[in-house]
Amino acid sequence: MKELIILGVTGSIGRQVLETIKGKDFRVRSISCGKRVELLDDVIRDYNIEYLSVSDDSLDTVNKVNKLKEKYPNLIVGYNQEGLIKAVTDYPGDVVNAITGIAGLIPTVKAIESKKNVMLANKETLVVAGNIIFEMAKNNNVRIVPIDSEHNALYRLMNNVKEKEISKLIITASGGAFREKTREELFDVTIDDALAHPNWSMGAKITVDCATMVNKGLEVIEAHHLFNFDYDRIETVIHPESIIHSMVEYNDNSVGALMYNPSMLIPIQYAIYENNVECAIDSTSVKKISFKDLKQITFREMDEVRFPMIKLAYEVGKAGGLLPTVFNASNEAAVSLFLNKKIKFLQIEEIIKKACYEYRDINKVKPNYTIEDIINLDKEVKANILL
Ligand code: NDP
Ligand code: MG
Repeated sequence: MKELIILGVTGSIGRQVLETIKGKDFRVRSISCGKRVELLDDVIRDYNIEYLSVSDDSLDTVNKVNKLKEKYPNLIVGYNQEGLIKAVTDYPGDVVNAITGIAGLIPTVKAIESKKNVMLANKETLVVAGNIIFEMAKNNNVRIVPIDSEHNALYRLMNNVKEKEISKLIITASGGAFREKTREELFDVTIDDALAHPNWSMGAKITVDCATMVNKGLEVIEAHHLFNFDYDRIETVIHPESIIHSMVEYNDNSVGALMYNPSMLIPIQYAIYENNVECAIDSTSVKKISFKDLKQITFREMDEVRFPMIKLAYEVGKAGGLLPTVFNASNEAAVSLFLNKKIKFLQIEEIIKKACYEYRDINKVKPNYTIEDIINLDKEVKANILL
């Protein structure tokens, strides 16, 4: 039996992790959520959950927790960051980190310190602290396995291939909700428009990140850290059908691509089972590609004028240090303002650009940094934006 701790269990990835392991030989004793406690009744019953971490301790959420505890009196509940850390450290198992945003950083760190392998959907962890995380993972002899579909595809394509046999990594991008719109047409787009992703159903933050192309920028930085590739060996290409999930170009100019109909169940199962085919998910969960129906797949060059955030992400990634933290924090703050109808869509880009400019000398001021510095800077950048 394999033991798992699932963080962000109420989210889009978290729920699909549960779907992936349903009826299989798994034991889950510890889970975490933000505030949507009302979604967890069945989960606590079906998996006999012992510990629940809730990140929100508002009266409303505590009320919902108390109702749950009436039904499950043995359930132990922890709150806030302290409670989240306990979810990782006090129970056995590999950790699936499906929390959204920088809130996923500390649990990743704690998992590694507790010598637990991490199946990582939370790309923000690697964007802000990739160097530190991989150094820690090496010292603690744990694996970080990506769930993000592009990186999971690259991870599979690079299996048993030497780094020097590869000339570049090519990350595919669907183009998001507004890929057919010009910049002028973005002026008045609404939240609903931004959340209508053509190929994927995901949490709100990442769906907006796809529309701004910030998501692909974060993924370029994520790939740099995961695979230790220089930025000039990481390319992006728009592929509207989302059938190819990324590609590896080898030195002989041959290219390997991983294809499946868009579904996160594939990368989730690969990360969790890692070649353990006996436990593999039901092969009917994801529809086979019918090449007869598909007929064609298409590609477009990434346009840095139409999608300026991709260019900025490369600049920020190459600069390294604390600048990716500024990029990530300003994006999280701007997306939350957009989702709360406080700003227009195009202002997300303006806020990120302004923050990266204001902090352009941060690496000179602070060339060496710790996880604590990242957390403090994240708070500072967000406070300036969320005034
Ligand atoms: P969702 O918004 O659907 O879910 C996020 C989860 O994190 C929820 O369980 C939420 O709790 C919890 N959460 C939110 N804020 C906090 C916090 N401050 N502290 C602790 N927990 C918190 O997001 P997704 O599942 O879409 O994405 C999760 C991660 O996976 C992101 O990093 C995303 O970039 C990445 N990813 C997602 C993909 C997808 O298909 N969805 C694809 C590739 C990567 P609650 O629901 O209770 O508020
Ligand atoms: Mg992705």
